[in-house]
This record gives sequence, structure tokens and C-alpha cells, in this order.
Amino acid sequence: MLKTREIHVPNYQKVIEVTDPEVNLHGFIALHNCSLGPALGGVRIYPYASEEEALTDVLRLAKAMTYKSALCEHGLGGGKSVIIADPKKGKSEALLLAFAEAIDSLEGSYIAAEDIGSTTDDMAILKKRTPYVAALPARSSSGDPSRFTAHGLFRGMEAVAQTLWNSPSLKDKTVAIQGLGHVGSKITDILFWQGANLIVTDIDPKRAQDFATLYSARAIEPDAIYSVECDIFAPCALGGILNSHTIPKFQCQAVAGSANNQLLRPEDGDLLLQHRILYAPDYIINSGGIINAAAEFEPGGYNPKTSLQKVNNIFDILLRTFAQASKENKPTNVIADKLAEYNLANGIGKRAKPINF
Ligand code: NAD
Repeated sequence: MLKTREIHVPNYQKVIEVTDPEVNLHGFIALHNCSLGPALGGVRIYPYASEEEALTDVLRLAKAMTYKSALCEHGLGGGKSVIIADPKKGKSEALLLAFAEAIDSLEGSYIAAEDIGSTTDDMAILKKRTPYVAALPARSSSGDPSRFTAHGLFRGMEAVAQTLWNSPSLKDKTVAIQGLGHVGSKITDILFWQGANLIVTDIDPKRAQDFATLYSARAIEPDAIYSVECDIFAPCALGGILNSHTIPKFQCQAVAGSANNQLLRPEDGDLLLQHRILYAPDYIINSGGIINAAAEFEPGGYNPKTSLQKVNNIFDILLRTFAQASKENKPTNVIADKLAEYNLANGIGKRAKPINF
């Protein structure tokens, strides 16, 4: 039987633990801040080593969603959920249906979407028990977000190029891509057609080799990515990869990737500044997917062209962030937080009318 238990976490609106031993369900849903609108956030299915690790992850991810959505000004708050399971072996329809009941109990303050370990087909299963689901594999829905995330990432890299090299062009720039999954594979493709030189890595060596062949890229070992000479390092796999061990090794001028929570600690943003490496704050540059998913709630229904226009704004948001950071000589992550907190404090981008589910 499904059980939910509320956990008090300071500065979080609501956090619940969700369990149902009959279907091997153990997870958490975290609502960080819903002052601008309901929280839209992915369902991450991952074999966390412990309950503490899963809880820490969902809290960090939910908070990042608040900041991301605040800067997108699309009337959404910040939330996320995690399920402790191996997505290849531990995912079942019964587990997803039980989790959907927990989502439903939050009465629309949390809207689920796909994330690492979950798919648009999983969202369709959730939808059988709750209306509070986005990114479904249906004609009227926004579908796989990674196309838009990758395009937003590309626009963000153009903003990096504009800031560092006075032209948005990525032609002949060397970009080192960590992770060739949904987003990493698409940004590799986009950059190839732009004439960039590519360095790729993945924990799956065959995948890296296949991409190297397809895009005339250089495949390297996963650990070598931190010290490889390049113009832009694009982390598209894991969080926490910008830290006091990796940053001193970097031989890049900028970090611009899709991974969530790239900085292990906020102070690692200072370290990047000290090393004169321009950092594109993760929750701005990877917001294309959430912007696209949020477009499902537009009054006229989902239109990918509207999403595209909004995702293109990532270029301007980043240019503003970089300019302000340079003016104040502060890390870009600090400036991004300040801009998001300003929107939160002043209700900028707050949803005017409730979503009609
Ligand atoms: P994915 O699971 O499809 O791809 C991740 C890839 O990284 C896989 O190919 C995996 O083998 C590889 N990988 C894992 N560990 C690695 C390591 N140590 N070194 C090299 N490669 C490694 O995930 P995705 O959807 O492409 O997302 C990538 C990142 O971007 C994640 O951090 C995700 O949270 C973030 N993100 C994704 C989206 C989206 O639309 N998919 C949106 C926002 C943020």
C-alpha cells in the first residue's frame, strides 16, 4: 500500500517520502518554491546508494528548478522527484502507477516530466492515475525535451562565443563534450554542422568511438576530459563535476553544458572566476527543455515555434548575466542567483491564471 510521509526541510515548501513495498517503490517528491506557479520538474529514476543520497539529490534539483523557472519567467515554481531504482531493471508499471498516486495527492502543485531514467512512455503511464503530467508522447504534448535543451545549449554557447571572441560563431572552435546521451548526442550533431572541432567522451567507450567516426571527432577516456585542451568544455552527463579537483586541471576558456548542478559547491564558481574560465550557469543554459514543456500550458496549446522563440532568449539572458558578472567582477552563478531571487521576491513572471489540467 502507498504511504506518504512529510519531511520538514527548512526553506522548502513541502517534501514527501513515498513508499509502497508491494511494488518496490521508494522515492521523494520535493517542492522547493511555488510562489510563481506550480512546480514542473522531472522524475529521476536512479539506483541511489542510499536514502540520504536520494534525498540530497532531490532537494538540490528542486531548488535549482525554482531558480531556473524564475529566470524563464514562465509562471512555474521549483520541484523535482526521485525514485530509488535501476531504470533498466527496477521500473514497472505498478511502481509508476503508485508513484502517480503520490503525485496526484499534491493536487497539481507538482507536475511530473521525464528526466534521467524516465521516458515519455513512463509519463503516459503516470497520466493514467494523475492529470499532473507533462511531456507525454502525444501529438498535443511537447514530447522529448532534449531537442530544445540541446538547442538552448547551442544558443548559450553562442553567447559564450560572443562574450569571449566577439562573434557568436562556433566555427573552428574546439568543444569537448562529456556524455553522449539525449542532449550530448544532439549538441554534437548541431556543433558538427556549425563547423566546430569536437572532442567526445562517454562511459560507454563504443558510443564515444561511434560518435568519433560519425563526426570526425576525437574520442578520449572519461577522466581525460578534465584536462583536455579546448575552447569550451560541455558537461552533458553528471552534476558536481566543477570542483576543486577538476577546475585546476581545466585547459578551456569556458564551461557551457547541459548537466544539472555542475558546481559541487557554490564557491566553485569563485574558483572558475579565479582561473578566468567563463561559466554559463547550468540552470540558464539547460532551460530549453523546461521552457518547451511549460509551453504545453499556454492558453492556445502547445506550439513548438513559440517554444523555439522562448528558448532563443537563452542567448540574451546569458549575455546579460555575463555582462553583469564582468561589471561586478563576481562569479556568473552568483549573478544568476541574484537575478532569479529578484524575480522571486517581486513576483516577476508569476502565473496569472491557474493551469487547466
Ligand atoms: P542521458 O542519460 O541521456 O545521457 C547521459 C550520458 O552521459 C549517457 O550517454 C552516459 O553514458 C554518459 N555518462 C554518464 N557518466 C559519464 C561520465 N562519468 N563520463 C562520461 N559520460 C558519462 O541524459 P541527458 O538527458 O542527455 O542529460 C544529460 C545531463 O543534462 C543530465 O545532467 C541532465 O540532468 C541534464 N539535463 C537534461 C535535460 C534534457 O532535456 N534531457 C534538460 C536539462 C538538464
